[in-house]
Amino acid sequence: MTTTDRATVLAGLGELLPGLEELYLDLHRNPELSFAEHRTAGKLADRLREAGYEVHTGIGGTGVAGVLRNGDGPVVMLRADIDALPVAEKTGLPYASEVRAPNQDGDAVPVMHACGHDMHATWLDGAARLLADGRDGWRGTVVVVYQPGEEVGEGAETMVRDGLFNLVGTPAVVLGQHVVPGPAGWVLTRPGVLMAATDSLRIVLHGRGGHGSRPETTVDPAVLAASVVMRLQTIVSREIAATEQAVVTVGSMHVGTAANVIAEEAVLEVNVRTFDEQVRQRVLAAIERIVQGEAAAAGAPRPPEITPIATFPVTSNDEGANRTLTEAFTAHFGADRTMEAPLVTGSEDFGEFGRAAGAPSVFWLVGGLDPDFVLTAMAEGRFERDVPSNHSPRFAPVLHPTLRTGVETLVVAALTFLSVGGGKLGA
Ligand SMILES: [Zn+2]
Ligand SMILES: [Zn+2]
Repeated sequence: MTTTDRATVLAGLGELLPGLEELYLDLHRNPELSFAEHRTAGKLADRLREAGYEVHTGIGGTGVAGVLRNGDGPVVMLRADIDALPVAEKTGLPYASEVRAPNQDGDAVPVMHACGHDMHATWLDGAARLLADGRDGWRGTVVVVYQPGEEVGEGAETMVRDGLFNLVGTPAVVLGQHVVPGPAGWVLTRPGVLMAATDSLRIVLHGRGGHGSRPETTVDPAVLAASVVMRLQTIVSREIAATEQAVVTVGSMHVGTAANVIAEEAVLEVNVRTFDEQVRQRVLAAIERIVQGEAAAAGAPRPPEITPIATFPVTSNDEGANRTLTEAFTAHFGADRTMEAPLVTGSEDFGEFGRAAGAPSVFWLVGGLDPDFVLTAMAEGRFERDVPSNHSPRFAPVLHPTLRTGVETLVVAALTFLSVGGGKLGA
């Protein structure tokens, strides 16, 4: 890819920006929960059709795919996720979400694009349009995928199982990106493992209920749960080497209904983050051992039940494809805006597409917050405390230059792997 190829395809971006800003604000004001992205999917599908793509809808529920066949060359897949979170927005922005919608249990909950998937969809909409308008500059097939249900860790797998690759062809490379609380305009790549694997578990601890005044007739699941929570803290501190990483968080704990009643059971929800399969297996085995052991020590009438409720694989970048892409980003944005990303303890189901296609995949991060604010907070050592991250009710990407940057990354990335100007075939 030459600078001219890039410049030709990106030439229309300035003109496109006002429309993209409008799309972003609209998506931000109208967030939809995982697998309920009907309005979002419909809108994005319409825009792909207008841009000249062959469009498939309803893949794995609310998934959308657009295909643009443009002669011989590799199939390059670009993916954006489109779901929002049950979070009450507190950004104070004039376009803040006021939406409430039913969750899976039918309860009305506040909804917010707190992870920035509205930005991802807008970026991909812009890149899809530019690649279509600039199709004289490249050969191959561009596949655009709008994925539902990322936040629940199911959307990628659901689309694949519903025959995504039968509809659009098997990609030679799969590309995706995420907005993060870094300086807007920065692009962060990383070879190998970028994001953690996640395992969420539900643990039911059985006790024997009774009157609060007569503990001797009971097995108190509150005390058992408390022991389990404290003992789980020793996995990372005592069983995982200082050179390895893992997180074990008990995010939810429910026991009992009244002060004078000893409950029958306690329910814990535990979240595990790891970057390595061996470490993951060790942590999961330690949880099993501790939960069983504490239940036995408490004299529980029945063994506890441990059930997986969500799993995300590690997000791991293909080394070669990542190197090629990092070189292209550095050439386009300059070394002062192209950095190496740190390991991220957050998780993604993006990796599922590459695995299912048997193709290399690369995922990278794009900063989305006011650079002065972020850099000052970093310099003063208060980044963790003061800078709202993804999933925070205060996560508020700035529109400029975030919008432009994420469209540019996708176009540069696509052109890096498509057949361009007689240059080499990527991937
Ligand atoms: Zn998220
Ligand atoms: Zn996300």
